[in-house]
Amino acid sequence: MPFQKGHTLGKLKPGQWSKKYPCCQKCGTTEIPHVANGLCKKCYYDGFIRPRQKEYNRRKKKYQHERYINNRHKHWAKSTLYKHKLRKFAINITIDELEILAKHTKICPLCGKILNWHNNSLKDDSPTLDRKNNEKILTKDNIWILCYKCNTIKNSLTLLELKKWCELIAPKIEQYL
Ligand SMILES: [Zn+2]
Ligand SMILES: [Zn+2]
Repeated sequence: MPFQKGHTLGKLKPGQWSKKYPCCQKCGTTEIPHVANGLCKKCYYDGFIRPRQKEYNRRKKKYQHERYINNRHKHWAKSTLYKHKLRKFAINITIDELEILAKHTKICPLCGKILNWHNNSLKDDSPTLDRKNNEKILTKDNIWILCYKCNTIKNSLTLLELKKWCELIAPKIEQYL
């Protein structure tokens, strides 16, 4: 017998909905054509195709979110270098090097607060790049990552200036406590 493709094999008699089933096993229709397993096109789509599409979309979303979370240090490194470039800093560090530094910086080296790499906007515990001695160039050796709060307080001071300033104001503050 010559090979015949699926659909031509089981030709339906006139008026027959499907070879095995008299009507759709779910909704009972014979108006909508049969697709498979005794289901009309609509029920088959609702029961099999749509849930799979939903599951596919759910997984895709989850995957994209995970990818974003896993790459957040890279995102941070990229945007930080970009912002410094705009502010005309000389940049002597690559995105990859800064990403590695970011991955290794879990707490703020000044106040010890745990840095939050998930913040969408700047908060006290957001990681920010600081130039230790406030030079106009970014190198692996003169930068570190501080929390936003410490960086705001340190502002344009060098570490030595910050130390002196703290020593200067600490006894004065004592008087007002
Ligand atoms: Zn149906
Ligand atoms: Zn801090």
